[in-house]
Amino acid sequence: MAQSGKGRLNYRCPSCFMRDLDIDMFYDKEKEEYYCIRCQYRGSEEDVLKKNEMARFRYGFIGKRFTMEELRS
Ligand SMILES: [Zn+2]
Repeated sequence: MAQSGKGRLNYRCPSCFMRDLDIDMFYDKEKEEYYCIRCQYRGSEEDVLKKNEMARFRYGFIGKRFTMEELRS
């Protein structure tokens, strides 16, 4: 049970990543959320993972248009 300021894993901020910035986020133990010190982004681990996935996805398909159905899945 580590009590450090960082989460179990280091996640990059998906919001910054979409702007070509690779920023590690910190972990808020009380709220159980990850947060970015550079932008206003904060979210649960699940949310971070999902958004990072979307960021990667977007990078792989620049120029492709997505439907809302595809983005939600
Ligand atoms: Zn950020």
